[in-house]
Amino acid sequence: MNYLLITVLFMIVIMLCTIACLHWRQHRFIKQLTHSLELQLLNQDSFNIDSPSKSLKPLINVLHHLHQSSLFSTERDKLTGLANRVGFKRKMLSKMPISEGMLVLVDIRQFRFVNDLFGFLFGDKLLKAFAKRIDNLNCKAQFISRMNGNEFLLFFQQPLTIEQLQTIKNDLQSPFEIEQQPISIKMQLGVLSLNEHHADVSLMLRRLDLALKKAKALKQPIAFYDQDDDKAQYRELLIINGLPKGLKQGQLFMVFQPKLDIKSGRCKQVEALIRWQHEGLGLISPNEFIPLAEQTGMIDILSSWVLDNVLAQQAKWRNMGVYVNVAINLSSTDLDNPNLAADVATKLSQYLVPAETITIEITESVLMKSLEQTIVTLNQLRDIGVKLAIDDFGTGHSSLAYLRHLPVDEVKIDKAFLDEFETSHAAKQIVKTSIELAKNLGFEVTVEGVESKSVLDALHLFGVDTIQGDYFAKPSTASEFEHLYPQLNYQQHNHLQHNH
Ligand code: C2E
Ligand code: CA
Ligand code: CA
Repeated sequence: MNYLLITVLFMIVIMLCTIACLHWRQHRFIKQLTHSLELQLLNQDSFNIDSPSKSLKPLINVLHHLHQSSLFSTERDKLTGLANRVGFKRKMLSKMPISEGMLVLVDIRQFRFVNDLFGFLFGDKLLKAFAKRIDNLNCKAQFISRMNGNEFLLFFQQPLTIEQLQTIKNDLQSPFEIEQQPISIKMQLGVLSLNEHHADVSLMLRRLDLALKKAKALKQPIAFYDQDDDKAQYRELLIINGLPKGLKQGQLFMVFQPKLDIKSGRCKQVEALIRWQHEGLGLISPNEFIPLAEQTGMIDILSSWVLDNVLAQQAKWRNMGVYVNVAINLSSTDLDNPNLAADVATKLSQYLVPAETITIEITESVLMKSLEQTIVTLNQLRDIGVKLAIDDFGTGHSSLAYLRHLPVDEVKIDKAFLDEFETSHAAKQIVKTSIELAKNLGFEVTVEGVESKSVLDALHLFGVDTIQGDYFAKPSTASEFEHLYPQLNYQQHNHLQHNH
């Protein structure tokens, strides 16, 4: 009896020991597994764990696959196999704080055209070849990632010299051959030196973007970030964020620049130009805030405000007996609005302003962007009766040949053409020929930016219809213009009659 009891008890103890042992091994394995996964999360190392137990093999396999798929998709770029933005950020975080080295953001210029011309498959192959080339550079980067479509980021532990950067750029630019097709691509590089202690990855990336933006804006192959870039960006932010408030609080206003009609010697038209007296930044030029409004999608509220303001002013002038045509500048994005002509017509009737007393100016570069669509919009505007002018003529990639297809009344030759007017015979001839050609095609011709009597006289001889510029009159507020108006007509009338 006793013997039996002892045997049973012994067996129970053995069983308990076995269970405890198994439990301990499992516990140890799970601890190891957890530790390994944590390490991978931190360092992005490869998955490396084994278990003596057969029953745990399937679990390890599943985890292995999971590691391959999830880490690959969240932190790697599928196309090139390089790290992506998320992967880059984590890698940098694990190295923080960084006080030495360099980040180089490489942008393939106009990569969009490669896709447009040769198709996406071709573009993908080129990107893969490009990634491989970056990986094999002589000046090897410690870490490479693809940040988005055509931007690649390289981290160097040691700062590079400008010569080394140029070599990298040249190496990357040497022609590729994809599907037996030789192809050349150009790069631009934004560079951020990490000498200054950098502890914030997002800030690093923002500054690197600023450097690349600068390279693009200045059309330079390589640009370095410097502290002033932050200030410029801060100013841009102040302008963009301040625009709705500025409009509401009346910080924006219109000025009007009189144009001289050569034949009559009178002022028959003014051009409306916008101004912004910013509460913190002072007077800001439209050359600065109009492009920002365009980029941030705020141009439609701005243009709508301009139309309201100018039409209200025109109604007021007509009631006072000041009969001038008023030219309004519209932006490229306005022309993309299919309801533009209908909106303008509604406003004209709202302010009781006859359509023919308004001219709409559209810059030439905009016309060229999508000629067919623009012609449709221009015809709609013409149908409601407003006059149309091509602004900044000669600055785009146009030829006078396509001009005859455009339903416009007037061509305004850009003031840039007067820069060398008095010093270069060729410059003078270009203006003369442009005036003649445009007139032969049936357009009225204005030359803008006339600053002296000698230029005015020459243009007069070339047969120009209208001139605009500081020599005749600078832009002035509505009430200043009202005082100036009788005087402008009287003086110029006599002046031109007398000379010719
Ligand atoms: P723009 O349409 O070519 O306007 C003519 C510019 O030349 C104006 O600059 C005018 O002040 C300037 N100007 C006139 N005469 C002379 C001169 O004799 N010498 C020189 N050096 N400059 C002269 P502003 O007012 O600074 O406008 C710059 C540009 O901003 C305009 O160029 C136009 O493209 C845009 N802009 C102005 N107002 C508006 C607006 O209400 N809406 C839109 N979308 N753009 C506008
Ligand atoms: Ca204009
Ligand atoms: Ca112009």
